[in-house]
Amino acid sequence: MTAVGFAGLGTMGAAMAANVARAGFHVRAWNRTPGRVAALLELGVTEAPDPAALAADAEIVVVCVSDTPDVEQVLFGDRGIAAGARPGTIVVDCSTISPSATRAFAARLAAGGISLVDAPVTGGSEGARKGTLSILVGGAPEDVERVRPVLAAMGTTITHFGPVGSGQVAKAVNQVVIATGYLSVAEGLALAMKAGLDPEQVVTALSGGVAASWILANRSGRMIENDYPLGFKVALHRKDLAIALALAREIGVSLPGSSLVAALEDGLIARGHGEEDQSSIARVIRGLSGMED
Ligand code: NAP
Repeated sequence: MTAVGFAGLGTMGAAMAANVARAGFHVRAWNRTPGRVAALLELGVTEAPDPAALAADAEIVVVCVSDTPDVEQVLFGDRGIAAGARPGTIVVDCSTISPSATRAFAARLAAGGISLVDAPVTGGSEGARKGTLSILVGGAPEDVERVRPVLAAMGTTITHFGPVGSGQVAKAVNQVVIATGYLSVAEGLALAMKAGLDPEQVVTALSGGVAASWILANRSGRMIENDYPLGFKVALHRKDLAIALALAREIGVSLPGSSLVAALEDGLIARGHGEEDQSSIARVIRGLSGMED
């Protein structure tokens, strides 16, 4: 069985690594803050002391960390993946980061005979746990085929868009679509609640019609409860909107809805809610509407 390294065991990475191990791959893992591998030991996952050691033992190395500088650090920092990986190794980056930086990282890795496949994911923390993620892939066709069995252990929909970086572009599109998606559900629920309707009844009824969405089905409950346990952090979505807005500016696309949501998320972060789930955008609408926020 292929030896797979896994760098980054946060909300997403830990669940994805578990599914790769359950699929029968030999998984070795590393996380910056120690202690995160413990929960995976019963699945046969072993721990590497640093990314270089992780990569030295692996044919495929999956990275799932927060932001562009973090991926750069894990790849090229002291004892980074590039320092340990043998030529022929493929790095699969499942983090959501800048497409242009991804292309630059691929070129730097290629100098050492290492390939990069960008494979950001969507489907939420639930999708990561259940192995039902949608994976948005960019890379050379032969590299994508080699890593496909590992991707199939983490997700059910795998779409190869084109050369390296194109998975990250598709992910930016996803983050633009969900930006106003969360805001719309928050607005509709505030209207329902203040008008005196039973919001849960509204969600059930609307879920059978045109307004049905993953966000309505899976995140409306949090907005109704005004309680936002972590799935996907506001701060991470704000990071993704920065990527999408930079790309839009670069290629001449106007994204007024995403710009608005970015400003609202800046307000949430300034008020100390950046580590909450993205559904806490409802706090903004509740606050503007004179409801408890
Ligand atoms: P998370 O729970 O905050 O975990 C972040 C992980 O990145 C942790 O393992 C963290 O290590 C590691 N990390 C951050 N900076 C690092 C650095 N400089 N060097 C080494 N490790 C570093 O985040 P997440 O929700 O798993 O998200 C991970 C990625 O997936 C992000 O790009 C996010 O946008 C994307 N994503 C998330 C979701 C979601 O629903 N959560 C959905 C789709 C995509 P420590 O433990 O040491 O902090």
